[in-house]
Amino acid sequence: MRADLLKKELSIFTFHDLLNFFPIRHIDKTKVSKIKDINPNTDFIQVAGKLELMPVVGEKSGRRLIAYLHDDTGMLELAWFQGINWVVKNFNSGSRYLVFGKVGFFNGRPQMVHPEIEIFVPTMADGKNYLEPVYPSTEKLKARALNGRQIAKLTQALIPLLKPTDIEENIPTNILQKLKLQNRFDAYYNIHFPKNQAEYDKAIYRLKFEEFFVAQIRLNLIRLQRHKVSRGLVFEKVGDYFNNFYNNHLPFELTNAQKRVLKEIRQDTAMGHQMNRLLQGDVGSGKTIVALLSMLIAAGNGYQSCLMAPTEILAQQHYLGLSPLLKNIGLNIRLLTGSTKTKERKEILQGLLDDSIHIVVGTHALIENTVQFKNLGFVVVDEQHRFGVAQRAALWKKSIIPPHILVMTATPIPRTLAMTAYGDLDYSVMDELPPGRQVITTVQRNEMQRFKVMEFIRDEIAKGRQAYIIYPLIEESEKLSYEDLMQGYEQVKSYFPEPKYSISMLHGKMPAEQKEINMKRFVDGITQIMVSTTVIEVGVNVPNASVMVIESAEKFGLSQLHQLRGRVGRGSEKSYCILITGSKNSRDARERINIMCTTDNGFIIAEKDLELRGPGDIEGTRQSGALNFKIASIVDDKDILEDARFEAEEILTKDIELVSNENLPIKKYLQVQKGKTGWSKIS
Ligand code: ADP
Ligand code: MG
Repeated sequence: MRADLLKKELSIFTFHDLLNFFPIRHIDKTKVSKIKDINPNTDFIQVAGKLELMPVVGEKSGRRLIAYLHDDTGMLELAWFQGINWVVKNFNSGSRYLVFGKVGFFNGRPQMVHPEIEIFVPTMADGKNYLEPVYPSTEKLKARALNGRQIAKLTQALIPLLKPTDIEENIPTNILQKLKLQNRFDAYYNIHFPKNQAEYDKAIYRLKFEEFFVAQIRLNLIRLQRHKVSRGLVFEKVGDYFNNFYNNHLPFELTNAQKRVLKEIRQDTAMGHQMNRLLQGDVGSGKTIVALLSMLIAAGNGYQSCLMAPTEILAQQHYLGLSPLLKNIGLNIRLLTGSTKTKERKEILQGLLDDSIHIVVGTHALIENTVQFKNLGFVVVDEQHRFGVAQRAALWKKSIIPPHILVMTATPIPRTLAMTAYGDLDYSVMDELPPGRQVITTVQRNEMQRFKVMEFIRDEIAKGRQAYIIYPLIEESEKLSYEDLMQGYEQVKSYFPEPKYSISMLHGKMPAEQKEINMKRFVDGITQIMVSTTVIEVGVNVPNASVMVIESAEKFGLSQLHQLRGRVGRGSEKSYCILITGSKNSRDARERINIMCTTDNGFIIAEKDLELRGPGDIEGTRQSGALNFKIASIVDDKDILEDARFEAEEILTKDIELVSNENLPIKKYLQVQKGKTGWSKIS
């Protein structure tokens, strides 16, 4: 019965689980204090002395029992308002007791209400030799007389029965020694019943390290095993398409970072193992051209490629951007999305099967089973964090030998997150922007200053520039925000009347064709202003746009703001980002706005974002499970994670099969975890 309840409420159902049910804090009964030591700052205290019970006074709810505890330094008042009969029956005036509780002050005198009290025996004089654990419990458990105290009784009864062999070490001895880690048995013991705070801290440290270490060994094993055993397509040469394009049609000199990443990709794809690479680059660092050049290598080796984007708009834009470039060198590229007409769709599916289409750009529609290739060799997943791991995997299956995969992030992700959520991937960083970019000036304005902002936009338009005005569209209150958007649109129209000005609008509810037309009018410079929701957010490239106005900026997350800001500053003109906020903003919102106004480095912003929001909220990683650490945190325990990563990599580069004697503990542990069966159940 209780076991059922435990299981349901706390998911505790085996001894092992109980062991892994960690206390939230500890109570210090390791010392027996003197009564004279009690002062107004005293919180919980343990004292011992002779009891003096007073007669019970009062009636019904006013009934109370007062007693005095005397030691050789003073006197402490104890009080009971409940369970009075039990106290009277079980405790005697004149006997010595050990008393523990929270000290309060009543009429200026210290008093302890409902203390824990037990017969004092001389061996108690030094107090308990461990800190007492306090476990979390739920309201429902409490209602059934099962609470943290009961759990404490269970652990108190069961944990001393454990022998070191019951909790086998899983970290190699040399690492334990090098990092001075507590051994596993001690750590489990000490997290429940530490002798003192220092022992407890060591236990926590050890268990956090273990969590990261095991995860890092797993992820690195996947990565290194893939290098070693997975079969991959061999791109023997760079090929004619690449060379022709690179020498004759490349619109600009590549940055060093772009060249470096291309080399990494070139190397990966020539080795005979499957490439699975995460490309991290800041907004505007030029990831698209890297993707294109990679796909040209694939084509030069006789393979098809696909480029998958998270939104229809972005897919369209990639298609429109790449088509003219590819025309020069005689490659056939097509666009496949959810709104592709049946007839055209048939044609494309056929073209992919008979290899007459070399590159296909699209959305999720590309994952569908009906999309089959003659010889898919290279997959680019753009703006990865909208895609789940499962979707990534679905793409591999489109070819007998899995295609090479290049995953590109929309904005940088923090290193710790990359190490955990994408730790199984190889990793490239583009930390350099193309030359000639000017810093985007970012400012905060309030609603009262909107008129000034509009005037500013007018000036920029007069110089031939274009502007975005973005409204938040929040799912839960979509209708309301939709009205906001319409209202905003009308307002913008009144500032910028036709025919002198024309405005494009874009939002999620618009039919795809309409979106396409409106986007294209802005891209072509026919409209000067784009009023939009965040559907515009990802990837869109209009180098002539120089102003990004974000309405209700306090409602956006940091990476979203950064991504939106990245829509300007893409050409050589000076660009501006104006964050319009309400007057009352939360502390977090103010912090976000402040960060945006002080830095445009996506790597720094990503770190701050993670700090402010915590890992659970980072888009796309929620479902991955990679971040479900029990006690370790990728935000607060960065250093431990770095250490664990380092040690895991070092072990595996020397001994990838984990066969050496030293590494047997971790190997064994991973095997046991794989086929894990529950320990004996608590009844
Ligand atoms: P992102 O990394 O955000 O996807 P894009 O690939 O869209 O960035 O590139 C942003 C802009 O920079 C595009 O207009 C692109 O043509 C331009 N660009 C990319 N690489 C270079 C370069 N090496 N030199 C000059 N401009 C470049
Ligand atoms: Mg991009």
